[in-house]
Amino acid sequence: MREENEALPIKEFYNPRKSNYEEVYRKSMEEPEKFWKEASKVVEWYRDYDVMLDDSNPPFYKWFKGGKLNVSYNALDRHVKMHRRNKAAYIWVAENGEEKIVTYDGLLRRVNNFARSLIDLGMKKGDRIIIYLPMILEAPVAMLACARIGVVFSFVFAGYGAGALADRIKDSGAKLIVTSDGANRNGKVVELKKIVDEALEETSSVGTVIVVKRTGTSVNMEEGRDIWWHDTVKDGQTHVEPEWMDANDPLYLLYSSGTTGKPKGVLHGNGGYSVWVANTLKWAFDPQEDDRWWCAADIGWVTGHSYIVFAPLILGLTSIMFEGAITYPAPDRMWEIIEKYRVNILYTSPTAIRTLMRYGDRYPKMHDLSTLKTLGTVGEPINPAAWKWYYENVGNSKCPIIDTYWQTETGGCMIAPSLGLGLPPLKPGSGTFPMPGVEPVVLDENGKEVPAGQKGYIAYKRPWPGMLMTLNNDPERFKQVYFEKYPGMYFCADYAMKDQDGYYWLLGRSDEVLNVSGHRLGTIEVEDALISSREVAESAVFGKPDSVKGEVIVAFVVLKDEFVNDREVIAKIRKNIRENLGPIYVPEEIHIVKTLPKTRSGKIMRRVVKAVALNQFPGDISTLENTASVEEVKEAIEEFR
Ligand code: ATP
Ligand code: MG
Repeated sequence: MREENEALPIKEFYNPRKSNYEEVYRKSMEEPEKFWKEASKVVEWYRDYDVMLDDSNPPFYKWFKGGKLNVSYNALDRHVKMHRRNKAAYIWVAENGEEKIVTYDGLLRRVNNFARSLIDLGMKKGDRIIIYLPMILEAPVAMLACARIGVVFSFVFAGYGAGALADRIKDSGAKLIVTSDGANRNGKVVELKKIVDEALEETSSVGTVIVVKRTGTSVNMEEGRDIWWHDTVKDGQTHVEPEWMDANDPLYLLYSSGTTGKPKGVLHGNGGYSVWVANTLKWAFDPQEDDRWWCAADIGWVTGHSYIVFAPLILGLTSIMFEGAITYPAPDRMWEIIEKYRVNILYTSPTAIRTLMRYGDRYPKMHDLSTLKTLGTVGEPINPAAWKWYYENVGNSKCPIIDTYWQTETGGCMIAPSLGLGLPPLKPGSGTFPMPGVEPVVLDENGKEVPAGQKGYIAYKRPWPGMLMTLNNDPERFKQVYFEKYPGMYFCADYAMKDQDGYYWLLGRSDEVLNVSGHRLGTIEVEDALISSREVAESAVFGKPDSVKGEVIVAFVVLKDEFVNDREVIAKIRKNIRENLGPIYVPEEIHIVKTLPKTRSGKIMRRVVKAVALNQFPGDISTLENTASVEEVKEAIEEFR
């Protein structure tokens, strides 16, 4: 539980050889000009910037004004010119186990070839295209080819349906789509091209569809519009001169997860963003030249953009890229890949950890995971119980856990332990301290800083290079959502607490707070309590209006496999929470389900659980993954009544 926030002792493997975090952080606060001059050298600039930060028109901040660079040049050409020409950029693993290794030189060739095709198809700087691809190598190739010629891409996760895709096509004004015939998922084929055809019936801007052959599924190819990748892209040696982009030219457009409402079209730029992602990866994870880095997200999320594509390539690392699902064909798939490819650093999400935890310890125990040095997580607060499971069963109690807190909007990590600068003692469930350049503050409703140990809203007092430039087509929403609540500061919409030792604890979304008998409890605190019961793998809670208490807690839980037949389980969970945390945390109702409603990026959609359970309108559910879970919630509620 959060109150028990004792630090784990620093052990030798916590990288004591570097312990200049405080000094580096202080410099970033006190001498930002000097600090960023140094840190911005993580990329090679075609033209140096004149102004570190132009803040003359807030909140439209312009980082590294006057600077010019090309992100694909930094990700590829630079390494090829140095000693990394033959180094693996990606070790790609297919769902069926097939593998492909692509070197930096090979990736550059593919990117040049595809950039040439885009140019031949009439695409030019500032045009927009949609990439709707599964986890295949053509995905990073297409992203980097766009970056090379200044085309702004918007990647749409291949799990989205036609409606969500059509919305994104319309909002982005894309002229071209890159897709594939199908995608492999859990042993089945998802017919992507068919979904594209459907989406295109509702939209008018797209003139060309490039189709990668991946699954061999039969597709309808519309004459004059649809072309095969293998017919269009000539695989040879061609050189496309990088377009030297202004630091503040847009690089990509990406829609947020839609956990709390309508997805926002987040626009990121070339200069600040690339400096930010490369530095944060170094600071947080300290990757070494020969390490194998596996960010197990999907490229369709910001985590994949920043930490499968841009940051690791800018740093010249070797990444694992995995096409399939982590539980297919068996719940040890992730561990099998780590063993087989001797992965050193694993970066995944709390939802993945809780899912794997549900199957029990025996799966990680089946494999040799001893090459792992560092473990990371991102996406939701990690419940201390899940943190400990990950630490003990995956990291064998010797790998630090880098819990990284950030958002689509922030471009890269904001609060995370800095392994690369000297790791602090870790506290399970805390993101520890801010990255250099980040100045967080925890505020009350009126903008007053709350004392240590108290909950409030987290905000940032100064801009940082990776921040979004604006929201697509909606600068007013950009100003209103992030900068109106606390003038001059960036508002994250998350709930946080800074403890007596200065550690930050992220307590979930501020619009998901429960108010029980006058106590304001974060949803995540109650969920932590539930998960701390050994029977529970996952949970989602919400507040149901109650005439006496204000709200009562309603919980939906997923049990660990070994407890699904236990008839006493609800009583045991209640007892555990009452004894360990106090009666206030005990849910009024506990419902058992097999799955919880989640976004396609794996985040629990509490607002959907609540709406369904209370028979209300659930709002925008275009990013909901598993509609079956909604039925389950309904059934559980009906049974209860
Ligand atoms: P939307 O903004 O559309 O509602 P979203 O906020 O889920 O969707 P993302 O940008 O993917 O979209 O997620 C960012 C959010 O995820 C953060 O604001 C925070 O609530 C949560 N989050 C991410 N990482 C962590 C972490 N390490 N600890 C706690 N919370 C986290
Ligand atoms: Mg958000």
